[in-house]
Amino acid sequence: MKLKDKVAIVTGAASGLGRAIAQRYVAEGAKVVIADLDARHAEATAAEMKGAALAVAMDVTSEDDVNRGVAKTVQAFGGVDILVSNAGIQIVHPAEAFSYAEWKKLLAIHLDGAFLTTKACLPHMYKSGRGGTIIYMGSVHSKVASPLKAPYVTAKHGLIGLAKTIAIEGAAHGVRANVICPGFVRTPLVDKQIPEQAAELRISEEDVVRKIMLKDTVDGEFTTLDDVAEAALFFAAFPTRALTGQSLVVSHGWYMQ
Ligand code: NAD
Repeated sequence: MKLKDKVAIVTGAASGLGRAIAQRYVAEGAKVVIADLDARHAEATAAEMKGAALAVAMDVTSEDDVNRGVAKTVQAFGGVDILVSNAGIQIVHPAEAFSYAEWKKLLAIHLDGAFLTTKACLPHMYKSGRGGTIIYMGSVHSKVASPLKAPYVTAKHGLIGLAKTIAIEGAAHGVRANVICPGFVRTPLVDKQIPEQAAELRISEEDVVRKIMLKDTVDGEFTTLDDVAEAALFFAAFPTRALTGQSLVVSHGWYMQ
C-alpha cells in the first residue's frame, strides 16, 4: 500500500480522470475527498469507496466552497497530504469566436481553481510537518497548441508556471508540486468535443479521432484512465523530495520532451 494513511483531495473526481485517480489512491490505502461541482455524482463515487472517501460539493472557482471543502477534509481525516487539482472543462471555437465569458470561465476553472485549492491546502501541509504533494492536471496542451483551444492551451501552459513556483516556495516545508500531461483519454470531456470539433472543422467524427486527436501518437492509441492514475500514483508516492517542479507527459509519444 503506497499511500497508507495519506489524505488526498481530488477535484473533479466525480468523473473521468479524477475518479480514476481517486479509485487508485483508495486502493493504495489513502483516504480521499471527492470534490466536485456535481454533488450527486461525487456522492455516488464516494459511496463506491466504502468509507475511504468523502464527497464534498465544491465549485473550484468559489473561494468559499474551496475553503469549506478543505476545512471539512481536515475535520474528517485530520489533515491533507495530497492535492490533485484536476477539475476542468473544454470549450472549442476559433479564438475570434470565443465570447469573453467563455474565455474567463475556462481560465477560472483551470487556473483560479488550481490557485484557490493550492492556497487552501498549503497552510495545512506546512503546519503538519509532514509536507505534502500537489499534482496539477495539465495536458499535452501544456506543451503544444492545437486550433480551436485558445483558453485551454493558455490555461494548461499556465499550470506549469504555477507548479514550478509552488515547487520552489514549498521546498522548505517538504511540499512538492508537479504536473501530469495526458494525451487524449476517452472521458465525457473528450467524448463531448469530438462532435463539436467535427462540426467546427466540417470533417467526420472518425477523422477528428484519427487525423487530429491521435495523429501524432506513435501507435494511434488513446491514453487510458489507468495510465493517468498510474502517473498520479507515481508522483504522490515518490519517496523523496527530488521529484518536484516537473511535468510528465503520458500520451503515447504524441509529445516527446
Ligand atoms: P470529465 O468531464 O470526465 O471530468 C471533469 C470533472 O470536473 C467533472 O466531474 C465535472 O463536474 C468537474 N468540474 C467541472 N467544473 C468544475 C468546477 N468548477 N468545480 C469543481 N468541479 C468541476 O473530464 P476529464 O477528461 O476527466 O478531465 C479532467 C481533467 O483532465 C481536466 O482538467 C482536463 O482538462 C484534463 N485532461 C483531460 C484529458 C482527456 O483527454 N480526457 C487530457 C488531458 C487533460
